[in-house]
Parts: sequence; C-alpha cells; structure tokens
Amino acid sequence: MRAAVFYGVGDIRVRSDVKEPEILKDEVLINVKAAGICGTDLHIYRGEWEVPTPIILGHEFSGVVADVGGEIEGLCLGDHVVAEPNITCGRCWYCRMSERNYFCENLKATGVTVDGAFADYVKVPVRNVYKIPDELPFDEAALIEPLACCIRGIDRAGIKVGDRVAIVGAGPIGLILLQLAKLAGASIVIQTDLRDERLEMAESLGADYTININREDPVEAVKELTGGYGVDVAIEAVGKPEAITQAMRLLRRGGRLNIFGVSPQDAVWRVKPFELYEMEMTITTSYRSPFTFQRAVEMASSGKLRLRKLITHRFRLEEIVEAFRVAGGAVGEAVKVVIEI
Ligand SMILES: [Zn+2]
Ligand SMILES: [Zn+2]
Repeated sequence: MRAAVFYGVGDIRVRSDVKEPEILKDEVLINVKAAGICGTDLHIYRGEWEVPTPIILGHEFSGVVADVGGEIEGLCLGDHVVAEPNITCGRCWYCRMSERNYFCENLKATGVTVDGAFADYVKVPVRNVYKIPDELPFDEAALIEPLACCIRGIDRAGIKVGDRVAIVGAGPIGLILLQLAKLAGASIVIQTDLRDERLEMAESLGADYTININREDPVEAVKELTGGYGVDVAIEAVGKPEAITQAMRLLRRGGRLNIFGVSPQDAVWRVKPFELYEMEMTITTSYRSPFTFQRAVEMASSGKLRLRKLITHRFRLEEIVEAFRVAGGAVGEAVKVVIEI
C-alpha cells in the first residue's frame, strides 16, 4: 500500500511498497479517506516530540471499514467510521482505577506510537471505532478527533452560561473551542491571534471580538471589553509558554485558566506563584479525549458546528511534504490542512 513514513526529524517519505497492516481478531482495517495534519504531527516532524521511528503518522482520520477481525459484530464492510487514536490496555493500575483519562501505563496511540493514517490503510482495535453518518463528508469527519479533544478542554475549563471567555490562538483548535464555548453558554468570546486571516475566520464563526496582538495590547483591550475586570475563563490554544502567560493576564481575579495547547516537550513556563495566589486562579490542563469521542461524533453529525470551514488546504498523500510545510505556517492563511487519501 501507499504510506507516508516518518524516518526522523524533517524526513517523511511516501512509499508505495509498505505492507498492509495485518489485523487481529479484535481489530478493524480502515481504508483511510481523509487525515488531518495536527500540531502534534508538526511537533514530531520538527523533533519537539519524540516518537519511535520509522512510523506512519496521522491520528485524525476518517475512512471506511475494509476488513474486520474474527469476533466483531455491529460493523460492516463499507461502514463510514472514525477512530479514537488512544489505545488503553484495560489491565494496568490506572485503567483499573477507571480514571476518566488516558493515564494508562501501556498507552499506545495510532499515528504517534503505532502506525497511523497517512496511508491507504490503518488498523485499530474495534473498541476505538465509531460509526459516522454516510452524509458526513470524510474531510469534515477527520476533524472529529481534534473536536473530541476540544470538548475535553471545554469540560475542564468549566464554562458556565454567561461566562466571558477569551481564547488565545485562532488556529484549528482555537476556532473549534470558540464554537464550543458559544454553545456552552459564553456571553462573549474574545479571540486573539497574530494573523488577520485567522481572526477574520474567528469573526465569521461567531467570535464577538477579535484582537490582533501585533497591533493591540490584548490585556488592555480585554479589560476595556469587560468593564475593567478581565474574563472569567481564558483558554490557551497555542502551545507556547508566552501564550499561557498571556491567557493568564486576560483573567479577572478568581478566573479559570485552561492550558489547552501542547507546548514543546522541553519548554518551560515562568510564573510568579504570588500572582496565582493573589488571583486565586484555577488552572486546569486538558489531556487528549477521554470519553469525549462519542460526543464529538454527535456534534459533528448535528450540523451545529462549522468544521469544514476550517479546512483551508487539501493535498494528496504524495504531496505530504508540501502539506506539512503549509500546515507549519509557510503559507500565512493556512488553518487546517487535510490529506485526501
Ligand atoms: Zn491531533
Ligand atoms: Zn492501562
């Protein structure tokens, strides 16, 4: 089969001689139709996140069931599906503590630690597979994985009806968080970014105010928009320590900060503990998508979100190196880049 194999930092090669995955009796073979490029893929590509190599990346995907293992009911060949990439063991201490999270000591992740979806076929355990409606376009369905992560983030931020919310970063994640924050009852959502194209998209998706931090001091602007107080909830959706600091500074006293973005593995965030004390700030983080995948499928199927609008670029598998370049910011207006397979 064809597959884009990641060999090491900055080295992805498309090959046509990769062996198709062999499925076990509790696994499903998926013929991949669309796979999104995620910030995590970019971290890995740049060497900011270590993975075993060689490996096929790609953990945000949709496709059709091409084969099922021996003991699988309820799935038919040709069914349209997406798959949760995180694979737990069900046997370790964390799994048995039924933590609603992916702290599994033997955690594997499709496209991160085991072969993923930048290929004709990918295999996943049946319990990770979710059926989607035939009408849902494959490219849009590839955004269900980041949507599931964002639902976790919204849960962790604890947005209440009437909260004023700021979202730092208007990339694909920031723009999904924006839509979810509105649906969760935020009275206003303020979005910040460096790029006007992204802020324009934020406005078209319902942001009440946008701030280009190159031109405007976001702290001052947010104060002005909130009667001098700051927002109740700030979500950092960039993945950089500076962005976390910025999100924190947008809060009112007693506010809630959710650090959603994934910073490079060795990045350090400098913070004055006294400031946290004085503000009695609640800080949460958000780790992957525990038990939010079904909700993401429901939301994507409901038509209440505009996910497809986030896809600004589509490439074929053979063009994956260029796709990574564009997703990595080489082209200013790129938001979500999807590989159509
Ligand atoms: Zn992702
Ligand atoms: Zn486990």
